[in-house]
Amino acid sequence: MRIDKMLANLGFGSRKEVKSLLKNGVVKVNETVIKDPKHHVDTENDTVTLNGEVIEYKEFIYLMMNKPPGVISATEDTRDETVIDLLEIEDSVFNPFPVGRLDKDTEGLLLITNDGQLSHRLLSPKKHVPKTYFAVINSEVTEDDVMAFKEGVTLDDGYETKPGELKILKSGITSDIELTITEGKFHQVKRMFEAVGKKVIYLKRLTMGPLALDETLELGEYRELTEEEVQMLM
Ligand code: URA
Repeated sequence: MRIDKMLANLGFGSRKEVKSLLKNGVVKVNETVIKDPKHHVDTENDTVTLNGEVIEYKEFIYLMMNKPPGVISATEDTRDETVIDLLEIEDSVFNPFPVGRLDKDTEGLLLITNDGQLSHRLLSPKKHVPKTYFAVINSEVTEDDVMAFKEGVTLDDGYETKPGELKILKSGITSDIELTITEGKFHQVKRMFEAVGKKVIYLKRLTMGPLALDETLELGEYRELTEEEVQMLM
């Protein structure tokens, strides 16, 4: 890859700005000052430095967000703020997008990346990637509901869900539950509870496949995935 393209891709400025950086002699490839914007860099093996700081080239970005309520899981929206609007990175560099959707009022784990293949794998209905949600329900959740979810319930459009694993954490006037499902139908958790005559009043995603929400992230905060987390998803 050309050095000017590499630096521009990483957000060090436009091609023109990068050209003047190079002219100033602050960029070295394998200890040699490089001023030619056309210089070819082997992004795997060459060591590129800018003012002595090593620059790692990366094509993909992987972020975990604790999605806050009130924002849309999309790249843009004419009315509402989106999860991408919350990112402080230069989104034109990586063009990240959310992997799947959480409802506007749903909180919790949202993966944001520009890796289309990974996104496809995680969302493919054929892969049955499990997702676990914590929810507060407006009434008493019972063992009958656990059994019904285990067998699959019929949604309002006649769709029969695959088995879901329902755990009752607290049952009473309102109930706290965890539900693991391997599908991602529109409003699925809310509609599964509607199918047994109950209503979700709070919903938060805890896991997606092997990835678990980092509970130290405040609502709206995000961080890059660790190497281990990325490897687990591959
Ligand atoms: N199920 C829902 O009903 N809403 C979500 O946001 C995610 C799963």
